[in-house]
Amino acid sequence: TIVTPKKIGENQYQIDADSNLGMKVPVRIYANEGLLEKMLTDRTIMQARNVSSIPGIVGHSVVLPDGHEGYGFPVGGVAAMDAEEGMISPGGVGYDINCGVRLLRSNLTEDLVRSKLKDIVTDLFSSIPSGVGSKGAVKLSHSELDEVLVNGVNWAIDHGYGSTNDSDVCEENGQIKNADPNKVSDKARKRGAPQLGSLGSGNHFLEIQKVAEIHNQEAAEKMGIKEGTITVLVHCGSRGFGHQVCSDYLRVAEQAMSKYDISLPDRELACVPNTSEEGESYRKAMFAALNFAWSNRQMITHWTRKSFERVFNQSESDLDMKLVYDVAHNIAKVEKHKVNGKERKLVVHRKGATRAFPANRDEIPSKYRHLGQPVLVPGSMGTASWILLGQPNSMDLSFGSTAHGAGRTMSRSKARRNYTENDVKKSLNDKGIFIKALTRDGVVEETPQAYKDVDAVVDVSHNLGIATKVAKLVPIGVIKG
Ligand code: 5GP
Ligand code: MN
Ligand code: MN
Repeated sequence: TIVTPKKIGENQYQIDADSNLGMKVPVRIYANEGLLEKMLTDRTIMQARNVSSIPGIVGHSVVLPDGHEGYGFPVGGVAAMDAEEGMISPGGVGYDINCGVRLLRSNLTEDLVRSKLKDIVTDLFSSIPSGVGSKGAVKLSHSELDEVLVNGVNWAIDHGYGSTNDSDVCEENGQIKNADPNKVSDKARKRGAPQLGSLGSGNHFLEIQKVAEIHNQEAAEKMGIKEGTITVLVHCGSRGFGHQVCSDYLRVAEQAMSKYDISLPDRELACVPNTSEEGESYRKAMFAALNFAWSNRQMITHWTRKSFERVFNQSESDLDMKLVYDVAHNIAKVEKHKVNGKERKLVVHRKGATRAFPANRDEIPSKYRHLGQPVLVPGSMGTASWILLGQPNSMDLSFGSTAHGAGRTMSRSKARRNYTENDVKKSLNDKGIFIKALTRDGVVEETPQAYKDVDAVVDVSHNLGIATKVAKLVPIGVIKG
């Protein structure tokens, strides 16, 4: 059935709950007309409607401005479930558990980095393992992998890949509690162990950027971001490890659903009660994957700093290569939210969605707490990316969340049909962007035209007071797996 979302305010659309369709709450979409129109061309909105029928869902099923269709749940979506009576779902987190982004700043200027752009991109490309089956530089024994899964970013820091200044500015300080390696299959371990410290492929990247615009001086200063200086954005997740955890627990959930009398419009929504044995096990395994990803991004950060030290012949501290923030965009965890004036504990599923908490939430690192949580929104290798700041309206509108990117608008196969490697490289080169990628298809599938307009996505978030602009970053060098 086709339903047209009704406009309920500027950049806000809703589909009312229809109990005949099993919907328990409305669907809320944050988008401008163009972004909404695009969403209506695929299954995005239908998927968000399906999500609204999951038992225990609270408030509304959220689609953010970068929303597009995904496995069961849309990417760019938020689903909050009552922690006692609601469900937890592997598909609501996604396959790449704790896929996320982190931003490093520096005091290097654009001119200086451009003068050695090929050197730095080449050095980064050779020192950071990338590609589909890429292996990291470390060999982990069974017990060492357990330590990674429990200690998260602190495993990497304890092994010389950074300092506690880094963990201070990660979501969950880069180490979520109550991860349990015993809930992880041998298959996940086998896939994951060799891959720690690798970027992966396709949409995962490392990007050298310049700070093009400052929109919030106070916040930019707190983050150490200055116009004209160079930043590095890293995007990757938990590799084959998280993928296998997701696969394993999708199967567990599919099999357990009848036992809990759950029936849903799409089997890809497979879920189990949050407090059930299966729910607990998934959460503990998923948390292990969160920790894997934080350790992974930390190792890549270390090698990035070493590359810059080599190429610019200065130390990491001279270069002021501090971590600004690290945030997950595929995650589910219990948080306190006010619903109709009453505080409740909810399992907030963010799939292709970034936490965007306003000032004074305890979860925000102390240096940023009075301002709001930094939010990182990548765009594409040929357009902008944004630093935002979480704002109060995010709590009522989107369970403290905003977009995680521009969002894909063109399939990988269509990109391959429409563009060649030379087209893409040439148009990047014309913009002064140097790319090194492992595969030809990787370049073509990631063409900037394959993504929506990140500035439009960010405007929606900004105008609604969900997360507001701090700085605009533009790429000058990119590594793609
Ligand atoms: P996802 O996690 O959904 O794969 O990707 C997150 C977002 O990253 C995408 O929606 C897209 O907007 C953005 N993105 C993909 N490739 C690049 C890139 O090379 N550079 C930047 N800055 N953003 C990218
Ligand atoms: Mn991602
Ligand atoms: Mn990913």
